[in-house]
Amino acid sequence: MINLMDLSLPQLEAFVEGLGEKRFRAKQVMRWIHLYGENDFTRMTDIAKSLREKLLETAVIQPPKLIASHESDDGTRKWVLEVGAGNAIETVFIPEDDRGTLCVSSQVGCALACTFCSTGHQGFNRNLTSAEIIGQVWWANRALGRDPKGERIISNIVMMGMGEPLANFENVDTALDIMLDDYGYGLSRRRVTVSTSGIVPAMDRLRDRHPVALAVSLHAPNDALRDVIVPINKKYPLIALLGACRRYLEKAPRDFVTFEYVMLEGVNDQLAHARQLLDLVEGTPCKFNLIPFNPFPGSEYRRSPQSAIHQFRSVLMEAGYVVTVRKTRGDDIDAACGQLAGQVKDKSRRAARMAMHSLERSEL
Ligand code: SAH
Ligand code: SF4
Repeated sequence: MINLMDLSLPQLEAFVEGLGEKRFRAKQVMRWIHLYGENDFTRMTDIAKSLREKLLETAVIQPPKLIASHESDDGTRKWVLEVGAGNAIETVFIPEDDRGTLCVSSQVGCALACTFCSTGHQGFNRNLTSAEIIGQVWWANRALGRDPKGERIISNIVMMGMGEPLANFENVDTALDIMLDDYGYGLSRRRVTVSTSGIVPAMDRLRDRHPVALAVSLHAPNDALRDVIVPINKKYPLIALLGACRRYLEKAPRDFVTFEYVMLEGVNDQLAHARQLLDLVEGTPCKFNLIPFNPFPGSEYRRSPQSAIHQFRSVLMEAGYVVTVRKTRGDDIDAACGQLAGQVKDKSRRAARMAMHSLERSEL
C-alpha cells in the first residue's frame, strides 16, 4: 500500500498514470486530500468509481495519529501526533491579527544538540517522512478551517518545530512542494519559512529546489561562542554560513535573510556581542529576530533581562536594521520556541553522535 499523503503532485500524477488513469485525475485526488482534508476514498464523489476502487486496493491516505490537542490562554494551539515506536512530535499554531502561523516539525528529536534547545537535549530518533510532515499541516488545517471570507486560517508556515529541516532534505522538500502547490495548500514562497542552524550545502540545494523564505539560527557573533552553543558551527563556520546566505538571496522570495538570535543572559547578550554582530553581517541584507530564551527542565541558561534585550536591540536598530523581539506565546502549554519536546526515544547518545557524524564526517 502506498501512502498518498507522501506524494507531491508530480509523484501523484505518476502514480495515477501507473494505474492506467489520466494524469489530471491526480489533481482531483490531491484537492480532496489537502483542500478538503478528506482521507476516505469512498467520499471522493467526483472521482470515477473505477478509480476509487483501484485506489482502495492500492493506496491509503494516512496522516500521523492525533493523540492530543491543547489550547493556550492566548489562543495558541498545539497538536501532539504519534509517529510510532513510542515517539511523538508537536505542531503549534500561533494566531496573530494579520496572519495565522503554523510551526511544523521535521524530525523526531534533533542530532545537532544546540545547548539551549529542548529538542536538542532529547537526542535524535529519526527523520519524519513527507506524510508525517505534511500530515501536521493536514491536521491543523482540518481543525482550523477557513475564516468567514473563505481564506484558510493557516496563512503562513514556518519549519521551526522539532528538528533540523535541512538535515531531512528530501522529505522536507516534498512537503514544501505540497505546501506551495495550488492543489495542496497554495501558499506563496514568501509565506513559507525554513529555519536552519546552518547546514551550508543543503542551503544551496534548497535555493535551487524551493527557494522559500529563509531564517538562520545565528545566536552568536563569533565562531568561538557559536562552536559551543550551535555545535554544527564547527563543520560550517560563520564565514561559510554568511556566504551561503548571500547565495540564497539571489533566489529568495524576500530580499533579506532573517537571523534568529536567542537571548541568553551573560552568554551572548552583551553590547560587545551586538557590535560584533554588526561587523559580521556587513554586506548580507538581513533582519534580526531576537528570541528571549525559553527555559525547559534541565536547561542551564537564563533568559536575558528585558533591559539587556532592549539595549542589544537598540545597537542593531541604530545601525539601520529591522529588529523584532519574538513574543513568547503558548508557554502555558509548553508550546513556546525551544520547548517542543514531544516524545523522543533517543537512540542513545551514540546514535545521536552517529547521525551528527554522517553530517560532519568527523566526530563531534
Ligand atoms: N533546527 C532549526 C529549526 C527549529 S528551532 C533551527 O535551529 O533553526 C526554531 C528556533 O527556535 C531556532 O532559532 C532555535 O534556535 C530556537 N530555539 C531553540 N531552543 C530555544 C529556547 N529554549 N528558547 C528560545 N528559542 C529557542
Ligand atoms: Fe536542532 Fe534547531 Fe534545536 Fe539546534 S535549535 S538542536 S538545530 S532543533
